[in-house]
Amino acid sequence: MDRRKFLKNAAVTGGAVIAGSMIPGEAHASGHGHDPAEFENNYAVLYDATKCIGCRICELACNMTNDLDKPDIDFKDLRVLAKKRRTDETTHTVINRFYPYGDDARMNHKPVFLKQQCMHCNEPACVSACIVGALRKTPEGPVLYDESACIGCRYCMIACPFQIPVFEFDEPLFPVIQKCTLCIHRIPDKLPACVEACPQEAMTFGRRGDLLKLGHGIIEQNTDIYETEIYGEHTAGGTSWLYLLPVPPVKLGLLVQSDVPAGQLSETIQHSVFKYFIPPVALYIFLFLMMFRSSRMDNKSNHEGEEE
Ligand code: SF4
Ligand code: SF4
Ligand code: SF4
Repeated sequence: MDRRKFLKNAAVTGGAVIAGSMIPGEAHASGHGHDPAEFENNYAVLYDATKCIGCRICELACNMTNDLDKPDIDFKDLRVLAKKRRTDETTHTVINRFYPYGDDARMNHKPVFLKQQCMHCNEPACVSACIVGALRKTPEGPVLYDESACIGCRYCMIACPFQIPVFEFDEPLFPVIQKCTLCIHRIPDKLPACVEACPQEAMTFGRRGDLLKLGHGIIEQNTDIYETEIYGEHTAGGTSWLYLLPVPPVKLGLLVQSDVPAGQLSETIQHSVFKYFIPPVALYIFLFLMMFRSSRMDNKSNHEGEEE
């Protein structure tokens, strides 16, 4: 409970700082976005939502290759699609089902499925937000996590615009952050496990620049099927997961991000902290004190428990 309280307090603090920083025009304050060409050779995946049938085989493959605990509900059980899900400790990728065509009888309520996982952003907010460098953007593209450096502040969870990093709340001894690694243990010799397992070949693994060309070619030849833009090409400054969509992203619950890199927004938060004369170190000391207080409360309640 104390850890949860800490997260709640940290979220409130983070939210307050974010709110303070969202002054019109301030989003570009850092003004040093990367050239998209820098990411052309990054490993990436092009996902075609029109091919996805929502079978969840990719979820199973991800769970197996990462040796994660089995979830309570089996991967074969498609009833989970009735509810919108987020990634968690046992499922680094989830499939959600949408009915974006509403009550248009001609479309027969055709569902659209959407695969979600870490987007491996070009300029990741989680990396900018992590105060100890436990998250990093590799030159190859994947955004990786180093549990030995993590102090459990969970600031990455607050910063990620796609709500991806998850904390192992149920792990009593050494909880860590969990998220997709783009199968760094497999690529490039093998495909990411989800890509390899997909029976629909809904995903193509390759270099970001090549996949963008491929995606735009597919869109040009099928303008009646796809949206004109590739989701992830510019979204949040660009991502390594690129989506071909049959409907606008907002109809699939995707956040419609600005083209400003999410990482720049995180930096703006830090700049705003400076601007309002709150040195970041004060924020970090605050976070440390919150953790210390949580830990003392933990010890106290354990002690009281022993006395009872
Ligand atoms: S900001 Fe979120 S989606 Fe982007 S790399 Fe970090 S965890 Fe993944
Ligand atoms: S929880 Fe760990 S990875 Fe996330 S911001 Fe804090 S130190 Fe970094
Ligand atoms: S395995 Fe392929 S078709 Fe099945 S849910 Fe995953 S992406 Fe969709």
